[in-house]
Amino acid sequence: MTLKINPVLCREGMMDNYAYILQDVSTGVSAVVDASEAAPIVKCLNKLKIKPDYILTTHHHFDHVGGNAELKNLYQLKIIGPAQESLLIPELDIGLNDGDVFTLGESKMRVLSAAGHTKGHILFYFEKDKALFTGDVLFNLSIGAIFEGTETQMLLSLSKICALPDDVLFYPGHEYTSMGLSALSDSVESEKLYKTLALERLSKNKPVPPLTLGLEKQCNPYLRNIAADCHIFSML
Ligand code: ZN
Ligand code: FE
Repeated sequence: MTLKINPVLCREGMMDNYAYILQDVSTGVSAVVDASEAAPIVKCLNKLKIKPDYILTTHHHFDHVGGNAELKNLYQLKIIGPAQESLLIPELDIGLNDGDVFTLGESKMRVLSAAGHTKGHILFYFEKDKALFTGDVLFNLSIGAIFEGTETQMLLSLSKICALPDDVLFYPGHEYTSMGLSALSDSVESEKLYKTLALERLSKNKPVPPLTLGLEKQCNPYLRNIAADCHIFSML
């Protein structure tokens, strides 16, 4: 593992966004994924003694870009986000499209377009580090609302996620785990495991640890059928 990932809870108790501070360990190059608001992110950056080089933005909503201007001013960093939403994202420097590859130091990241929640929403996939940043497309046990795209687009975006390997850890844009917990059954092993992992961390008031896409495909009600279809396709 060459990529260190630190979650930062933002807009706590209101929207419970997650920003993530990433650092490529071998080079020290670092980035903030979805700079929701500046204050908690700056506090965490100071604690970690990190000066970020980039902001990686998944989509244009205010709760994902609210800290862009202030952080750019503080750190003279570059802001990267979906080319399709370039006019809507404050201070955007570099627009990315589906399939583009970006390197954070030595950590390689691929852009996956994932329309539905917004028209230009993108995901950041660090294949080698087994990390996927899902913004407002996929949450623990739920998915993002379809605001700008169509249901078909959202389905395609979720299918893309389901096609990724089971051992990839995913990092959502909000802490919504507790909302989906009550729907989990105690009789299915994977759902029991999910509940235990989530409750253990939520009770300590820490972010739920990143869970694997494999477990999410089994437990997230929105992914279950899609994942089953993907499995059938992969066998054909
Ligand atoms: Zn959003
Ligand atoms: Fe959001």
